[in-house]
Order: sequence, then C-alpha cells, then structure tokens
Amino acid sequence: MLQIQMVDLKTQYERIRPEIDDAIFSVISSSAFIKGPDVKQFEEELKSYLGVNHVISCGNGTDALQIVMMSLGLKPGDEVITTNFTFIATLETVALLGLKPVIVEPESDSFNISVSEIARAITPRTRAIVPVHLFGQCADMDGIMDLARKNNLFVIEDAAQATGADYFFADGKSKKAGTIGTAGTTSFFPSKNLGCYGDGGAVYTNDDGLAAKIRSIANHGMKIRYHYDDIGLNSRLDTLQAAILRVKLRHLDDYNKARQTAAGFYDKALAGCDGIVLPGRKKYSSHIFHQYTIKVRNGKRDELKKYLEENNIPSMIYYPGPLHMQQAYRYLGYRDSDFPVTDALCREVLSLPMHTELDQKQLEYITEKILGFFQKQ
Ligand SMILES: *Cc1c(COP(=O)(O)O)cnc(C)c1O
Repeated sequence: MLQIQMVDLKTQYERIRPEIDDAIFSVISSSAFIKGPDVKQFEEELKSYLGVNHVISCGNGTDALQIVMMSLGLKPGDEVITTNFTFIATLETVALLGLKPVIVEPESDSFNISVSEIARAITPRTRAIVPVHLFGQCADMDGIMDLARKNNLFVIEDAAQATGADYFFADGKSKKAGTIGTAGTTSFFPSKNLGCYGDGGAVYTNDDGLAAKIRSIANHGMKIRYHYDDIGLNSRLDTLQAAILRVKLRHLDDYNKARQTAAGFYDKALAGCDGIVLPGRKKYSSHIFHQYTIKVRNGKRDELKKYLEENNIPSMIYYPGPLHMQQAYRYLGYRDSDFPVTDALCREVLSLPMHTELDQKQLEYITEKILGFFQKQ
C-alpha cells in the first residue's frame, strides 16, 4: 500500500544525507555550537538569495516577529493590524507586547489579508500592518505598501510560509517575499519551505539602523559586550541548524519547484470537480505551496476528510477556528459574528498532502479518491 504523508522529511533527508551528515559532523568536531561560522555564512547566503541588505537569524519565527516589534519601538496601546486567518504567532506577539491587535478579514480566494479591510481598520493610533504570505503566496503588497506610505505605517511581513516566493510589482519589478516591507520574518520549523531539523527563524530588512537594533535586541539588548542599551531577549539560531540550512538553501528552488509540480497535478486532476474550489492564484505572486488548500463546498469538508483518512490519505485543517473567538483573545471584544469570511474559510478549508517528495503514483491515488468521493454523492 502507498504510504502517503502530509510532509515527508525523512525521504527528503535520505536524498541529501551525505551533504547533511557532513555539515552536522563538521560542526560537532569544531564544537562551535553557539554563533559558529556557519551562522554568519548562512545569513550571508540567505541575504544574497533574497536580495536583501540584512538577514538576522534568531531562535524561531515567533521570536522573529517579537524582536521586530520590539525593535520598532512600538508602545503599549499602539494598534497593529493583522489577519484573522493565520497561525496564532502573528497575533500572539502583538498581544504579548501590550500592543493592540486589530484583526481583519482575509480574502476568500487567496486566503491573504484583504487590503480594503485594512483600509477600513486604520485609525490615528495605527502604527503597523502585519500581512502574512499564507500557504506560500504573497499578500497584495502593492496595495499594502500604498496604504502604509499614505498613513505612515510600518509593514512587517510574516513570510514564514513563503521563503522563496516572488512578488511582482505593478511596475514589473519583483522582490522576494519578506523583503518588501519595513522588515520581514521567517521560521525554519522543519515543515516550512526552508526548514531545519529543529527550531530556527530570521528577520530581514533593508534598513541599516533597524538591522543593528534587531541584532542587539535578539542578543540581550547588547551592542558592546556587557553594555545593555535596550531590554532584549536571548534568541539565537544554533550553529548545527545553520549548517543544515546552508545545505537546504542550495536545494530550495528545486524544492519549491517540486511543490509547484505537485500543485499543478492537483490543479489539473481536480479541475471541474464541483464539490471543491481550488486554491486561488494571484498574478502578482508566485505560489510556492507551503500548503495546497482547497475549499470544500456544501458542508462536506469533514466527511471528505474522514473518507480520505479511511483510505490512508492524511489531510489537515489550517486553520480550524477564527482567532477572534479563541479564549485568550476574547478580551479584544470582538463579537462571534464579526468575521463571516474567516468563519466560512474555517468551515471549508482542507489542506492536502504537500511536500517535496510526492510522486505521480501518490498524487494519482489522492486525486482519484477525492474525485471518487464526489461521484458517490
Ligand atoms: C510557523 C509560523 C510562525 C511561527 O514560527 P515558529 O518558528 O514555529 O515560531 C509564524 N507565523 C506563521 C504564519 C507561521 O506559519
């Protein structure tokens, strides 16, 4: 029987095992576990891959968001606009710093934050917008940067799911996800498009002053040893993880292509299936399919998920509940009915197996079962 996984990191490792093992053993034999040379080298290599002036590595993607917000000098009560349809880290870091999260609806087709909803949410106290490039496709950065310029706002791109995605501006130029706003953040959680073998994260920026501040805040607020200019935190990328990431960065474009090939197969095989809506593609962004997420119509999502499970096909619901209804965020005072677009997405979305090792046989099996489910109806 076919063994299908949501994410297959083991097969991916088997293919690059000699490179990875070499990288790991050379770190161990040098014993430079903290801030070893691979950390600096990885930052340099990611910098040139992204075409950005500064990459500052840190402990994980949640820290990356927190460090940026601390470095921008945001004050308690400052309003930060973000989307209701994302992983909790995006909202959590805003709340943790005593800033006021202002939650807005995503677009139903792209799943990304809606520019018109951001525009409606801006007040004189708004200081920043945090778009998330969800599932591997960029949010509408022309629209977001335009609002930011007009209202003098910071833009922090949460690019944790979009490492390597390209944004195409209206004027024809392009930039990598995370390098467009005031700063961008990413996560190297193992299942991300660029993932390590544990935790890791990074911040990107083109602003020299901000970069220095970020580096200091990630290191206890220290620029000169044992002199503390800011209240900071301790957030570092392990040398071992940096060495692994140097290997995986060399394969990133191929990995993203493999995901796009799998997505292309899904698109073709499932086109015309009435019961589902395929992921919306936007002209202004490439899509590197961190997730391949369909919408299942007519209340059939959970039934389809169960049917796939019975046929040994895993699937996941990203994300099952709107953030404004989570217990911890009730204090923000939103009503249950405030976010109908998010509600509908949480009821309809289903992410299919998506990783770099999916083969033709697996994809045929998955799509045949999905089509079969709807034929039975
Ligand atoms: C994974 C993820 C994060 C957090 O990354 P960690 O490294 O797990 O802290 C933040 N935002 C989004 C959108 C993510 O997908």
